[in-house]
Amino acid sequence: MKLMVKAPAKINLSLDVLHKRPDGYHEVKMVMTTIDLADRIELAKRNDSKIIVQSQNRFVPDDQRNLAYQAAHLLKERFNVSSGVTINIEKNIPVAAGLAGGSSDAAATLRGLNTLWELGLSLDELADIGAEIGSDVSFCVYGGTALATGRGEVIEHIETPPNCWVILAKPETGVSTAEVYRNLRLGNVEHPDVDGMVSAINEQNYADMCKLVGNVLESVTLNMHPEVALIKDQMKRFGADAVLMSGSGPTVFCLVKYDSRMQRIYNGLRGFCSKVYAVRLLGERLPLD
Ligand code: ATP
Repeated sequence: MKLMVKAPAKINLSLDVLHKRPDGYHEVKMVMTTIDLADRIELAKRNDSKIIVQSQNRFVPDDQRNLAYQAAHLLKERFNVSSGVTINIEKNIPVAAGLAGGSSDAAATLRGLNTLWELGLSLDELADIGAEIGSDVSFCVYGGTALATGRGEVIEHIETPPNCWVILAKPETGVSTAEVYRNLRLGNVEHPDVDGMVSAINEQNYADMCKLVGNVLESVTLNMHPEVALIKDQMKRFGADAVLMSGSGPTVFCLVKYDSRMQRIYNGLRGFCSKVYAVRLLGERLPLD
């Protein structure tokens, strides 16, 4: 028995870090939304009890370091599942890019195995299990658009944002999320207006949504990787409505309403950066598998 599950990437429209907690995690407050750029996960039930991960992408680990493996292992142990699974990951989301590719693969694996192994868990239960794997996994279980707080695992769904194009450009450099957080100095950074972003989205106000994009982690990554700032400048120069780095970077995205401008920015960036994508903002909750 086989099942195909879609694992969409996310972008952060607003990302603030409030403080470092005694448990070592950072308390965050952010608005996340899904975009139409997705990995495809094929799950095939095995007769033996093994968990096997396959991927053609050399940057994706095929052992217990893979977040999809960890998702399968956790479900198998917790619910005493005897059968195994082969997880085939068709990787379309760039790796270590600030787009939650690994977290989304883990979330898709949780959703898919819930069906394949007939576990009967609710999405809320899957999101709680996902939080044990990584802070972004809970959001990815639901998809859609949400205000995420705590260490990112406390999810409050909000309206679907006004529709637009999202153009993404990923510089060659990879970024370690842990290193970015380590270098973050909260004393002298500009904090984005996350509540304002939530209101703009709930009111379907595209102009305000564009005005209010902000990411406190830009202060660190832009310093470490000047090419990120260069891409931001290019996007602005080509006439984007809003420009921001996603997550800890290094991917930069911009929002545009009109097809003609999307085309101009996309073409302009392709001469400048090797990985460029133009996709629709999805923002709606994922359908049940
Ligand atoms: P986030 O936005 O949640 O910080 P990210 O998009 O920056 O995540 P990922 O693409 O998830 O980063 O990859 C980060 C690291 O996780 C990779 O370097 C890779 O070694 C490891 N990894 C584990 N599982 C996966 C997976 N299924 N897909 C991609 N990378 C994975």
